[in-house]
Amino acid sequence: MKFLCVECDRQMAFSERQVPGDGTLAATFKCPKCGRVVAMLTNPMETQLVSSLGVEIGGRTVPAEPFEMVRANVVTGGPAWSADAQERLERVPTFVRGMVKKIYGDYAREITPAVMDTARAELGLEGM
Ligand SMILES: [Zn+2]
Repeated sequence: MKFLCVECDRQMAFSERQVPGDGTLAATFKCPKCGRVVAMLTNPMETQLVSSLGVEIGGRTVPAEPFEMVRANVVTGGPAWSADAQERLERVPTFVRGMVKKIYGDYAREITPAVMDTARAELGLEGM
């Protein structure tokens, strides 16, 4: 993955990378000529995609940790639920549980309570 400064036609140099730990990834690249900075931000799903492609960002590969769960997905064909996320899902009334499970499964491939919170806020699923 490379970024070009269109103005200068120069390849931007990697300058900073952050992995906040929630599955998102932020990286900034700087034009060595004019100093313009661009930032790349990926959501958990995109981060996993980048990880699974083995893309190197800033000379280091994205941590392999979330990737283990992706591998599990390939085997089971479904999203990976962490134990505590599963426990939380079990508190959802039976008649809507299947639907709720699907919504979260469509939202992310790796579901943790943190992901559930984000999904709830983003999709307006208060109380699920
Ligand atoms: Zn430039």
